[in-house]
Amino acid sequence: MVKAAKNIMVILSSPSGVGKTTITKKIQQKYTSFKISVSHTTRSARSNEIEGVDYHFVSREEFEKLIKEKKFYEYAKIFDNYYGTSKKNVDENIKENDIIFDIDWQGTKQLAAHKNLNLLKIYLITDNKEELKKRLKKRNQNTEEEINMRFKSFDEDVKHWNDYDYIIINKNLETCFRQIEEIIENNKKDSLYPFT
Ligand code: 5GP
Repeated sequence: MVKAAKNIMVILSSPSGVGKTTITKKIQQKYTSFKISVSHTTRSARSNEIEGVDYHFVSREEFEKLIKEKKFYEYAKIFDNYYGTSKKNVDENIKENDIIFDIDWQGTKQLAAHKNLNLLKIYLITDNKEELKKRLKKRNQNTEEEINMRFKSFDEDVKHWNDYDYIIINKNLETCFRQIEEIIENNKKDSLYPFT
């Protein structure tokens, strides 16, 4: 019997600075079946970010209008800004592609409430908080105040690790990526279904 794989939706969450964005991009490079979900946000674009590629950058008014119109599968207020996943973005892609989401624990809970979605929830963590602070400073994308706010949210963020299917400690990027590859490949095998 011919079998086809169902498309999966991989959620990758972590405290800020653990390496999620790099891993997300690596997954998309390796698996051409994956599209990265491009979120909407009210935060300003960083110098290296591109509209429509990294985020859809919108004003607070536009975002609140989209909330009222029920255009999001999930959204959350994080570090004083809104972030959200539009229904259009998911619905247009899931028929043909697997999707990877770089979203926080609040969004993960909301997506998980949609029982019809085939979700695989992965949480990345570090066992070295001091190293994390250094990394946040080194990437030079936030002010001192923002770095402190992101660092402070670490303890709150990790409280939610048990909402996830897999927890991975990111000690080394390559090892971490290999573990994620294995999880994705096993999950793809498990979601094979008869194709007629
Ligand atoms: P950053 O400002 O560093 O790009 O992202 C800050 C946090 O927002 C990260 O933890 C990221 O995963 C999360 N995030 C990005 N997009 C979304 C989204 O659409 N929904 C939710 N709930 N979180 C998001």
